[in-house]
Amino acid sequence: MIYHGHWHGKKYYFGLHYDLHAGQTDTELGTRCGKKDLVPMLKLMDPDFVQTDCKGHPGMTSWFSKVPNATVSPGVVKDAMKQWRAATRTLGIPLHCHYSGIWDKAAGAQHPSWCTVDKKGRPGGAPFGPNAGKPTGEKMCPRGPYLEKLLIPQMFELIDRYGVDGFWVDGDIWAVEPCYCHRCRKAFTLATGIRKPPTEESDPNWSTWIGFTRESFEAYVTRYCDAVHSHKPGVLVCSNWLQTFKHPGEPIVPTDWISGDNTWVFGLDGSRCEARFISTRGKPWDIMLWSFFCSHGMGQPDSPWVAKPVEMLQQEAAVLLAFGGNVQIYENPPGLRSGQLIPWRQKRMGETGRFIKARRAVCQGTETLPQIAVLHSEHHARAKVGPNLLWGVDTAPVQGALFSLLERHYGVDILDEWALLPRLREFPVVVAPEQDSMSAPMVKALKAYVQTGGKLLVSGANAFDRFGSDFLGVKGGKLAKHRSYHVPAADGAVPLFSDPWRLLELKGAKALGRLGTTPLLNERLLPHPAAVLHRVGKGAVAYIPCNVFRDFARNRYPLTRDFIGEVTQALGARLGITVDAPTAIDVTLRRRGTTRMVHLINRTSGIPNQPNNGAIDEIPPIGPVTIRMRLQARPKKVRLALEKAAIRSRYSGGVLTITVPSVHIHAAVVVE
Ligand SMILES: [Zn+2]
Repeated sequence: MIYHGHWHGKKYYFGLHYDLHAGQTDTELGTRCGKKDLVPMLKLMDPDFVQTDCKGHPGMTSWFSKVPNATVSPGVVKDAMKQWRAATRTLGIPLHCHYSGIWDKAAGAQHPSWCTVDKKGRPGGAPFGPNAGKPTGEKMCPRGPYLEKLLIPQMFELIDRYGVDGFWVDGDIWAVEPCYCHRCRKAFTLATGIRKPPTEESDPNWSTWIGFTRESFEAYVTRYCDAVHSHKPGVLVCSNWLQTFKHPGEPIVPTDWISGDNTWVFGLDGSRCEARFISTRGKPWDIMLWSFFCSHGMGQPDSPWVAKPVEMLQQEAAVLLAFGGNVQIYENPPGLRSGQLIPWRQKRMGETGRFIKARRAVCQGTETLPQIAVLHSEHHARAKVGPNLLWGVDTAPVQGALFSLLERHYGVDILDEWALLPRLREFPVVVAPEQDSMSAPMVKALKAYVQTGGKLLVSGANAFDRFGSDFLGVKGGKLAKHRSYHVPAADGAVPLFSDPWRLLELKGAKALGRLGTTPLLNERLLPHPAAVLHRVGKGAVAYIPCNVFRDFARNRYPLTRDFIGEVTQALGARLGITVDAPTAIDVTLRRRGTTRMVHLINRTSGIPNQPNNGAIDEIPPIGPVTIRMRLQARPKKVRLALEKAAIRSRYSGGVLTITVPSVHIHAAVVVE
């Protein structure tokens, strides 16, 4: 049975995350986080919960740990945990610990036998940064003694000594790579009968091996969740990025909530995916936004960290809040290792917090109004995973599908097979973007869905092999490798790159345009369709025989979005809500009981368009937005929540038409 997690309660909505990854060179830890420093700083921000530093990737604690295998940073002058606990008690808010799990350099130095072993037989290095791939021994084997000898005893120590309310475990799934130690090799052979674990991704046993790695990791997280829950019920556990967009499948690990720290720059797209996927997991969740950014790579000296503009954080928060999530913000003031916080930065986060809290009544506890489901099959995702459990998962086609459909203002959710199969029929349209390795039961269910009236869009040359000639209404034709062809869209044509393309021939389906070898619309065309539409049973399937969604994720050409939009439109789904708006408006469709909400989020930036600038600021209001909603009766009330604008609405012929003149960052039309 799935564990649905726990949270402190509805009013704990906006959090502060503070970490500094204590290390060897620290000298002043804990000296500026006494109650008289910390309480006023926390009041400036006014968070509902706090996560504070405790043990980072160097593996050194920032408190005086007495656990036998602990490594306390030589820079701990005063007990920071004790002081954060005192301040959060004064303010009456929960306190979580930031604790680095799999990535622990100090434990590796003390106990080389606890480390993972890389494919060359050396201790595993860091998951990224200067020690990536070097035999520095920084990652812990999930089957080794680390869990029982250090991680769990330290969690108990933190619970017993400070009464902490939860753990946000960092450096966990995203730090996991296959381990070739004697323990893992033996368990792998025992579980699979395969004598030697493969070392290359091209090996036919690789997916079995990476699957074993994932299961070993999930078992490790399960063990510390169970240990904490039985040691003190009510203490919450989260493993950073577990059960998020890049970890699809039944959420079997009994963490209490789902969370991940969003990338520091250009992070909006990531959150658009996470919100639509995590909200289908059935657990409390948040995303952590970094309060600071740099325009280039992490830690590059010529691109130093700077605080984000408030509007940048508000925009990032809005895409999460609209899906009912919580938000926390990460602060780590550059150059300050004492625990001291910076007043003007706390104020900025406080201003973002007011924006967030003002949305709770509208956003919290809502459900999706199903419109388009994008399939993010766990079977497909797991079929080809690189050596890193999180970063090795290829989600590009799912992202491309989401981004293109959002630019056409559909309401879109992302569901894995586990989430989609029981509720397939709730969605008028399903899109399966290049999900070649989806399960056989999923293929069967999608075919049955179309038979009974569903509208399905599939893409990719290999979808032909999964769905077959009769269902798609085409003959398979030849494959053209590594090619671009032009497809008609709007007033023109757009080149799509795919490896491969499938050059279809019709066998009952209707062609939606022809492939071109140039942008000419009527000359130099091939005899093959750009896409096809086939009516099957009471429904219809559209097929785009190339990697159109991967192409869109990479190139974002407006004409590609138009092509995808036109194919989707051709399915003829009868949608309860349609929206006309500028491209940069994201639509989120939610409901609470019979109340329907259309969230409108403005993704523009008001500052000049420059490729080396990650900042978002001075967001200009955009509009107008026209919403058409089919309703059997005139609604009791139509209002605009979260922003002020003079909306107009009219009900006639079973359709409610609402016009919103402009949206600044995030507004919601509420229809009761
Ligand atoms: Zn191992």
